[in-house]
Formats: sequence, C-alpha cells, structure tokens
Amino acid sequence: MERYRVQPDKKFKMEDISPDDKSGFDSTKEEAKIKLLELNEELETLQELLYAEGKHKLLVVLQGMDAAGKDGTIRHVFEGVNPQGVSVTGFKVPTDEELAHDYLWRIHKATPRRGQIMIFNRSHYEDVLVVRVKNLVPPEVWKKRYAQINAFERLLTEEGTTILKFFLHISPEEQKERFQARLDDPSKHWKFNTGDLKDRALWGKYQKAYQDVLNRTSTKWAPWYVIPANRKWYRNLTIACIMIDTLKNLKMKYPKNKEDLSGIVIK
Ligand code: AMP
Ligand code: MG
Repeated sequence: MERYRVQPDKKFKMEDISPDDKSGFDSTKEEAKIKLLELNEELETLQELLYAEGKHKLLVVLQGMDAAGKDGTIRHVFEGVNPQGVSVTGFKVPTDEELAHDYLWRIHKATPRRGQIMIFNRSHYEDVLVVRVKNLVPPEVWKKRYAQINAFERLLTEEGTTILKFFLHISPEEQKERFQARLDDPSKHWKFNTGDLKDRALWGKYQKAYQDVLNRTSTKWAPWYVIPANRKWYRNLTIACIMIDTLKNLKMKYPKNKEDLSGIVIK
C-alpha cells in the first residue's frame, strides 16, 4: 500500500494516481466483499487491543470532494468495531463561536484520547481547501496554515497520537454519477445539497488546492495517502489494509492484571 503514500521529499501530481487504479488487489467485487469481512475482523481485534492497552491514540483524517465516499468508508471499513473505542467527528461550516477562535481550536478538542480511534469526517484541512477556494480569508492568512498544521500534527504525534490521512480520490465523472444517483432515489435526497454543485463547478481549483495540501503536509509523522476511490470496494480494502498495518506496527500488548490471578478459584 506504500504506493499510495505521498512522499514528503517528492513532488506529487494528481495525475500520478488514477482514481480508477486497482493494481493493489486482484479481486472481483464479490471477492472483495469477503476479503473486507476478514479485514473488518482483524481491525476489530486490533481496535480492542488499542482500547485494552490504553496507551496509543489513533487519528484518521478523511478528506475528499463531495460524494467521494467519506461516509461510506466509515460505515464499511469500521463495521464490527466496538463503538466504545471509536468515534467520528464531522466538521461543518464553523459556528460563530468556532470562528471567534483560531481554526485549530475546534480540532484540538476533538482529537483522540488514549485507547481511542477518532475519525475526522473533514478536518482542519478545510481551512486550506474550501477557505482558500472560496476566498474566506486572505491568501496571507491561509498560506501560513500549512506550516501551522505540520507543527500541530507534530505536537500530537509527539504526545502519542498516530495520524493517518486519507484523500479519497474520485474523478468528476464519478462524482456526476453519484450525484445523479442521489437525485434519482428519494431515499437519498437528504444527501443532496445544491451547494455541492457550486463546489463541483470549482473542481479544478479544489484539485489544485488538494495537490498543494498533499505536497505541503504529507510528513514523516503524519502521512497522506491518496486512495483511488472510483471503486468503493477498492477504496475500502485499501484503507482497511493501511489501518491494519499501522496498528500492527504499534506492537501493542494486552495489559497484565496487577494482581496474581493464578490461584483464584471461582466458587
Ligand atoms: P458535508 O460534510 O458535505 O455535510 O458538508 C460540510 C460543509 O462544511 C462542506 O461544504 C465543507 O466545505 C464545509 N466546511 C467544513 N469546514 C469548513 C471550514 N473550516 N470553513 C468553511 N467551510 C467548512
Ligand atoms: Mg457539501
């Protein structure tokens, strides 16, 4: 899965990875479903271990254009994990109170505690994406944010947080199909937002802003992965694998009980 990690010292171009790429898994859609169930179980075990050990914190950042599959990833990749140890925070247009503080204020409060996996559905990266594309603050303000974000993420990792950032990479054609599917199905109308069409019209500007994010904020301590996401099954398998590898690398252990349990007889 290393092929999708954005290298800090190499220039990344959006064209380097196709949203249709499926070179990492040689599966059919049906095989992928079975494989994902196996990965779900593995992830469940690792998550329980993270929770039991209570030492590490894991932050998963999900970014992507509308309909890129952020919600679907959360539903499918984390299926079966114990809800006690996994939380999701979605970041919407900031409230007045949030805007009265610095942009990282609401983010820092939501970061994971020990033993917890926290998933960010959108994140502080909106503050160099939508904010830049829609000129919500002047360039001299957002341009400073890449370095601020790198420093913030470094602080988190030095304090015991592991950070994984996923950019769900879809094509404009795929987005069009997904929007159309939402329009065609009344049970999906709630997901449709005419404002999303305005963002769609700014596709090129968003891709440029994403490319800058990927080049400037993929660090050794908090790497970005560009996930080919036109195929939902491929996206799910890839993200599940990266999460599992990352958790395995933490070399976690179940904690020993402080008491000697060997002589205990339950009557
Ligand atoms: P959604 O996640 O599609 O339900 O919508 C959330 C909306 O909030 C998106 O259109 C984001 O671009 C927007 N949003 C999130 N964070 C910010 C931010 N910091 N500033 C402005 N808009 C934001
Ligand atoms: Mg939206």
